[in-house]
Amino acid sequence: MKILVPIKRVVDYNVKVRVRRDGTGVETAGVKMSMNPFDEIAVEEALRLREKGAADDIVVVSVGVPQAADTLRTALAMGADRAILVQSEESPEPLAVAKILKTLVEREKPDLVILGKQAIDDDMNATGQMLAGLLDWPQATFASRVEKTDDGLTVTREVDGGSETLSLTLPAIVTADLRLNEPRYASLPNIMKAKKKPLDTIAAADLGIDLTRRLTMLSMAEPPTRKAGVKLGSVAELVEKLRNEAKVI
Ligand code: AMP
Repeated sequence: MKILVPIKRVVDYNVKVRVRRDGTGVETAGVKMSMNPFDEIAVEEALRLREKGAADDIVVVSVGVPQAADTLRTALAMGADRAILVQSEESPEPLAVAKILKTLVEREKPDLVILGKQAIDDDMNATGQMLAGLLDWPQATFASRVEKTDDGLTVTREVDGGSETLSLTLPAIVTADLRLNEPRYASLPNIMKAKKKPLDTIAAADLGIDLTRRLTMLSMAEPPTRKAGVKLGSVAELVEKLRNEAKVI
């Protein structure tokens, strides 16, 4: 089984994001960038399927600026076999990414595409679903367990108030949720080995796909700063404040 794992370069999850002064988006200049955490989980799941003998080829792909090559190298150091960078000026919106991925799927012919359930920069949670729609493939989103069966996959997915188990035929799309696994760290020898693994670059413009943005960011603002709270000494004090200050009782 061949697995394709799309990974996105996003602001590192430990960084406190700041809105750009002109309100046009999140500040990324001089900010630490890393692999989207759900995509690390997707890479890890592909590696585990290979270790169980269910997969033999893992290709990672990122659509974005040239620096996304560093993110791809991280996935190669974790254990992926090959990487493809689809270079664009910025990261296109989900529909354009899904169309680019569809073209790559047609070229690479994977049996399974594992994506993150969402990118933590803009929380779209759309690319996997759109790719499944464009390809007309079965999909299992928010996966918390993936098992290879003789004729496909069994996927347990997290839904409101519980979990649901689906049976899918291949080729299929899976999106990874937080509890699917705990991704490994790349060891130093593997980081060195990853430098020699193949990484192909394609220009997004050469794929002949309409990358026109359909969404316009009107404004972005920091959440209003909250007033500091106070600690009260007793229940009687709380009741007094609720009655005389907040006037809610
Ligand atoms: P989103 O729909 O933007 O929340 O992203 C969901 C998933 O789609 C991510 O976790 C990635 O697996 C994939 N994805 C989104 N944008 C990109 C990108 N620019 N390059 C590669 N994969 C992406």
